[in-house]
Amino acid sequence: AEQALIARREKVMGPAYRLFYERPIHFVRGEGVFLFDPDGNAFLDAYNNVASLGHGHPAVVEAITRQTAILNTHTRYLHENVIDYAEQLTATFPAYLSQAMLTCTGSEANDLAVRVARSVTGGTGIIVSSLAYHGVTATVAEFSPSLGESVNLGPHVRTVAPPDPYRETPEEARDRFGRDVQTAIDDLRRHGIKPALLIVDTIFSSDGVVPEPKGFLQPAVEAIRRTGGLFVADEVQPGFGRTGDTMWGFERHGVEPDMVTLGKPMGNGYPMAGLVVKPEVTAEFGRRSRYFNTFGGNPIAAAAGLAVLKVLAEERLQDNAQDVGAYLRAGISTLAGEFSCIGDVRGAGLFIGVEMVSDTQAKTPDAAITTRLVNGLRERRVLISASGPHANVLKIRPPMVFSRGNVDTLIEAMRDTLQSL
Ligand code: PMP
Repeated sequence: AEQALIARREKVMGPAYRLFYERPIHFVRGEGVFLFDPDGNAFLDAYNNVASLGHGHPAVVEAITRQTAILNTHTRYLHENVIDYAEQLTATFPAYLSQAMLTCTGSEANDLAVRVARSVTGGTGIIVSSLAYHGVTATVAEFSPSLGESVNLGPHVRTVAPPDPYRETPEEARDRFGRDVQTAIDDLRRHGIKPALLIVDTIFSSDGVVPEPKGFLQPAVEAIRRTGGLFVADEVQPGFGRTGDTMWGFERHGVEPDMVTLGKPMGNGYPMAGLVVKPEVTAEFGRRSRYFNTFGGNPIAAAAGLAVLKVLAEERLQDNAQDVGAYLRAGISTLAGEFSCIGDVRGAGLFIGVEMVSDTQAKTPDAAITTRLVNGLRERRVLISASGPHANVLKIRPPMVFSRGNVDTLIEAMRDTLQSL
């Protein structure tokens, strides 16, 4: 049955849309931490960082359904619930980040961030990490090197290698990253390009789940500010409490972004995204430009977003991410004692990376075993993915309602898979 769907899909949608897994999975329903195939088999979702409250959370379903029946229009009338949402969202940020602009996708949020930064600084240059993914619009694809050869990085883009906590000390990583950002700035200037922004994932995700040490970003942020550029934190993946210790990933680093971009879990699956911005930046942008987005911040999106913020707080999901994340890392560390292919376990809260190696002394990346593990887990109905420069880092980002019992299931499936390899 899957083969027939794959053939139909390819025929009508073309080859560019990629699916996960050598044997793609067909899902028909989601509930909590599980996704269900047409035969009713439950797959444990340790991949999905969109439905942070769990699939089909009743409070979000209720909010969306209710608002759909009452009103949805474009966003050029006064709607109170979007104002409520912006107020409640910005209240979760430090006071200097007090204004919000809403979009539908994370890509659009990053696209808008670039537009704002260029308008405000008069520059065009962009500095990103070497395997960053920031989105799909033409502008954003130009600074998303993880898209690979299919996309040419813009002439105004410079990349900087993220820290490698497995192979560098925190101090080395901080100093090197700061120096590399400075070198990138100097290179842009040599080419007559004024830098507009440095944008980083506050946990480098596609770069291999790198949770930088505290203080790590400071020299880099100081360097971009000295040259008149802005610092943008991409919180599409780590935001909304996933890192456990803080609501926002940048707060782990003691740096103050000029803009923060958001997406994925913001509507628990309802498409919504946006930026949270310093008011002086918004003011400057507003002097020169206008912004309008038909669906960005529409009444249904605002209702979904309000429900998400409420449930996050009521169910104390940030605390759960902290507690269950620590338990999960401990479980994988135990496995590392049994299987020498597990080289490094890292992350924060429920945003975890596991680096797979063929030689723990030499720390040699092992992409082959990573692929076999991801596929072996799929056969055991556990969903995870992999990333990193050598495609050897397991990326584990389950819904934030993940329980210790779910962790036990995941660890047992990993043990069973590793034993079989
Ligand atoms: N930034 C990051 C860090 C992301 O992971 C993603 C999506 N994977 C995006 C931006 C783009 O978001 P969207 O797919 O909603 O456009």
